[in-house]
Order: sequence, then C-alpha cells, then structure tokens
Amino acid sequence: MPESPKFTKELAEYFTASGNILLISHINPDGDAIGAQLALYHYLRYTGKNAGMITPNNLQEFLKWMDGAELINVFIRQREKCRELIEKADLIVMLDFNQSNRLGEAENLVLSSKAKKVVIDHHLDPDSFADLIISDPTVCSTSELVYDILTVINGKPYLSKPYAEALYVGIITDTGNFDHGNYTGRTFRIVADLLETGINKGMIQNLIYNNFSADRMRLLGYTLNEKMVILPEYQTAYIFLSKRELALYNYVKGDTEGFVNMPLSINGVIFSVFFVEKEGFVKLSFRSKGTFPVNEFASRFFYGGGHLNASGGEFPDTLENTIAYFLKILKENFGNLNKIP
Ligand code: 5GP
Ligand code: MN
Repeated sequence: MPESPKFTKELAEYFTASGNILLISHINPDGDAIGAQLALYHYLRYTGKNAGMITPNNLQEFLKWMDGAELINVFIRQREKCRELIEKADLIVMLDFNQSNRLGEAENLVLSSKAKKVVIDHHLDPDSFADLIISDPTVCSTSELVYDILTVINGKPYLSKPYAEALYVGIITDTGNFDHGNYTGRTFRIVADLLETGINKGMIQNLIYNNFSADRMRLLGYTLNEKMVILPEYQTAYIFLSKRELALYNYVKGDTEGFVNMPLSINGVIFSVFFVEKEGFVKLSFRSKGTFPVNEFASRFFYGGGHLNASGGEFPDTLENTIAYFLKILKENFGNLNKIP
C-alpha cells in the first residue's frame, strides 16, 4: 500500500456524503488531466456513485479514443448541460491545476456553486480556491496521485482496464514517456500494476504519439530549421511561429505540442522557449534541464506559472515585441536564476 496522501480520509468522507459528484479538468486538457479525470470517474462509477465530467474546452484528437472520453461535457460547447451539472453537484473535484482561472469560462459558475470543492493536483503553490486541496508536487502526475489516493480509499489497488489505461496515459504524457518530470521508483511500481491489467501499451503508444498529420511533421521541420535561435551565452534556445505560418501548415490544435522540448536535446542548452502568436497576445511555453526555474521565469515576467522544468505564460503584445522583451528579461535575469542551489 502507498503512504496515504494528505487528506485522503477527508476526501473519502466527501465521496460518501455526496450524491452527485462532478469532475472537472483544466482548459486545454492534457493527457494527465483527462487521464486523472477518467480514472476517478471509472472508480466512482464502480462504487455506484453518480458522477459527471466537464472540461472547459475541447479535447485534442489524441485523447478522444479513451474509454469514457465521449462522456466528458465540453463547457464552451454544451453550456446549458454544464450549467445544470454544476448546479446539481454537491461535490466538485478539480484535477491537475492550481489556479481557478484554469477553469476558463466555467470559472464563475464553479466558484459560486454551493458544492463542496476539492483540488487534486501536483503543481507547486496551489491557490486556495477549494475546501480541500490535495496537492503533491513531488509526484510525476496528478494521475499518480489519484492512483495512490484511490488505492488507500479502496483498501487495495482498483485495477479495471479502463482505469489502468487512463492512469497510464496520464503518467506517460506528463513524463514524456519517462523522459522528464518527477517520476520515481514508486511511479514504476504503479505502472507495473497498471500494465499487469493487460492494457495494450503498444496500441496506446500509437494512439498518443504516432498519430500526427503530415502537415504537423512538416511544420516541425520548418520550425527547427528556420525558426530556431540559439543563444550560447545564455544556454538558451527559442523558437517562434506566427499565425500566418501556422495557417500555411494547416495548423490544428495540438500540432505544436512537444515542439518546445526539442531544443533541450541540444548539447549545452538548458532553457528552451516557444513563442506562438495568438489573437492579441503571445502564448509562451518554457522548458528547462536541471535547476533553472522556468516556473519563476513565467510567473515573474509572463503572467504564468507551472513546474520547475515546464511552465507557460502569455504576453499582451506582438510576436516581435514579445521576443524583444524576452531577450531583455533573459539578459537581466539569466545569471541570477541559473544559480546552483
Ligand atoms: P505548456 O507549455 O505545455 O502549455 O504548459 C506546461 C505547464 O506550464 C503546464 O502544465 C502548466 O503547469 C503550466 N502553464 C502553461 N501555461 C500556463 C499559464 O498561462 N499559466 C499558468 N499558471 N501555468 C501555465
Ligand atoms: Mn499534470
């Protein structure tokens, strides 16, 4: 049995006391958000609970095949249905985020709901927007935390195939197939249990990672070849794409997923940044190797946050001005932030 995560007993009491449980993942949900959400859903249904699911906006194609994904209501598409689910819920569990603005357009309705609210998450420094915050930044994924919590509540691992598949997707996507993030020996013990349910890891690998369009592959080639700048004096590389360039490659949501990680495989680069032009602002993704704190970089200068080695933010200006601002900030702060603790 795992060590009991904090507040597991309280969560179990909330489950027992609740007739209608609503599970909500964050805006632009990733594999871990959806994995944790579906796993908790499958478990609650197994225990006979009434459970519903909402995500603030659409799921990406690479997650739609998952068992139960078709039952997730998309807030911006099914507002009335989602409003009803929020209003009738007596417990709302929010998964894989630490700030209420990650609820997107569902934020006000959720925060003003009379339901008890719980957060299950692994990002640093959660805001207090729930009655119960189960946060463990030492685990690799919210999915790992959900496994530990439900194993304790259930008295033994609950290992149905749809549940195992959901948690497996959460763990492999948040660690980039065990490449980065806080995975540990414990993670592998959990994965061993998940695999022993008979889930098809080859099929999952193909559905998640070998499922891109030719346009996406060409966009990646173009980006790395034409749009990558390396700044050796700051051990930094950045890539940037305009709306026009994305359109040229028939961009669909999710196509640039993972691009920001690639420059980190260059010898000597410890900080990678990806700028994408949006309507009226620029979205930034940050990644690092070692101890360079990209969460601090994002929160201090780009209205964002995240983890030590993976974070994001945004800037309300043109692509050109945002890059100029970034270069100024980098020059002024790289030395201070890149201190070995
Ligand atoms: P990505 O670069 O994949 O969009 O985001 C990486 C991580 O950075 C996410 O898991 C999330 O923790 C964090 N993140 C990304 N964008 C934002 C943002 O705008 N605000 C905050 N607070 N965190 C973000
Ligand atoms: Mn996560």
